[in-house]
Amino acid sequence: MHTLDPSADDLLNTDALTERRIVTTVPGPKSQELDVRRRAVVPVGVASSLPFYLARAHGAIVEDVDGNRFIDLGSGIGVTTIGHTDAAVVAAASAQLQELTHGMFTITGYEGYVRVAELLAKHTPGDFAKKTVLLNSGAEAVENAVKIARKHTGRSGVAVLEHAYHGRTNLTMAMTFKAMPYKAGFGPFAGSIHHAPGSYPFHDGLSGTDAAARTIAYLEKSVGAADLACLVVEPIQGEGGFVVPADGYLPALQEWCNANGIVFIADEIQSGMARTGRYFASEHFGLIPDVVLSAKGIAGGLPLAAVTGRAEIMDSSHPGGLGGTFAGNPVAAAAAIAVFDSIESRDLLAEGARIEAMLKPALVELQSRYPIIGDVRGIGAMLAIELVDPSSHAPLAAAVSAVTAAAAQNGVLLLSAGTYGNVIRFLPSLAITDAQLLDAVTVIDVALAAL
Ligand SMILES: *Cc1c(COP(=O)(O)O)cnc(C)c1O
Repeated sequence: MHTLDPSADDLLNTDALTERRIVTTVPGPKSQELDVRRRAVVPVGVASSLPFYLARAHGAIVEDVDGNRFIDLGSGIGVTTIGHTDAAVVAAASAQLQELTHGMFTITGYEGYVRVAELLAKHTPGDFAKKTVLLNSGAEAVENAVKIARKHTGRSGVAVLEHAYHGRTNLTMAMTFKAMPYKAGFGPFAGSIHHAPGSYPFHDGLSGTDAAARTIAYLEKSVGAADLACLVVEPIQGEGGFVVPADGYLPALQEWCNANGIVFIADEIQSGMARTGRYFASEHFGLIPDVVLSAKGIAGGLPLAAVTGRAEIMDSSHPGGLGGTFAGNPVAAAAAIAVFDSIESRDLLAEGARIEAMLKPALVELQSRYPIIGDVRGIGAMLAIELVDPSSHAPLAAAVSAVTAAAAQNGVLLLSAGTYGNVIRFLPSLAITDAQLLDAVTVIDVALAAL
């Protein structure tokens, strides 16, 4: 086990985690044993999509308790963006553990919180004064952004898009689109949430201008701009299926929000923090959101979330209106600072472009041989394929399940996505090597061939 002052190698114990290696059937005997224990004490509502139990991980490789090693194309849903057990993150968090593990920022401040806020002010889009409140989870960030937008505008309405995912708390369940598994039976939900049609070029065929006109007309008719506090959008939808909106769609929404005093909130919880080759995906679309939400990748695997926005919006809450016991924890903040430092010092923004340049053509090549791949889309290290019936475009969720299951048997960890469960999303860590990526594609190729 770990000592407190080991060499980096002892602490990480990761020397061998470079390739996939399957040594048992998946799940192996130890995973099966853990699963029996789990079923006795963990509710079925907390389901795991893959059947093996993790022991350790480094970079883009995870190892299960039976010694099987998987190329991780999910990164814990886009969390270990700079890599599992990244050495800089481990060092910063370990050092912080010796100094201060809890400060309760609403009682006494500490530098790490302030530093993360400074870094977010610097790296989120827009050249104006910004302020940040730190939280523990993405859903909590969404909740706080809505709170702040309502306080700022004095309005109650919250607009979200079809296929959106914003979390599992009561307010964010209402904002999330998909009923099963996220909402079914868990109501009643928070009110004043309005789901509007979005832009999904592969299915709706609309230009960005036409899709935006449809969204805006829908909201103006069904709510009225004057009753909307905010519009919350994922620049690239995550759980909804890595939907990249048509050109011009998001800028038109932003313009409409700006013209009508509606706070434009970019939920970058999945798409942000260098995932797409920019700090925030908003940059690809020329957006300057009033408020940007961060979580998942921000602290290299430790829990941290943030709401960053225009100072005058963020300052609309009275003192004491925002905060939380663990929010902005010093260890998580230290890890986040290491993530920002690593993005700069190791030029990690370039890695998103490298991964896209390697993986997207490989997926397009698969598409040329497997007509059920209806669409290949995404930006940077946030890519997806959508599996459909080639003639009707009907979703093929069972094919996605079969491919992810077969890939797991062969050492590749894949995640599904999409309102219809028919999308395979690729969220590799920026540390994944070209060789690991190409090896994973050969496994996916075999899995597709077996359908
Ligand atoms: C994951 C996610 C959330 C919720 O974050 P949690 O940390 O799971 O609460 C919200 N929005 C988006 C876009 C997400 O991907």
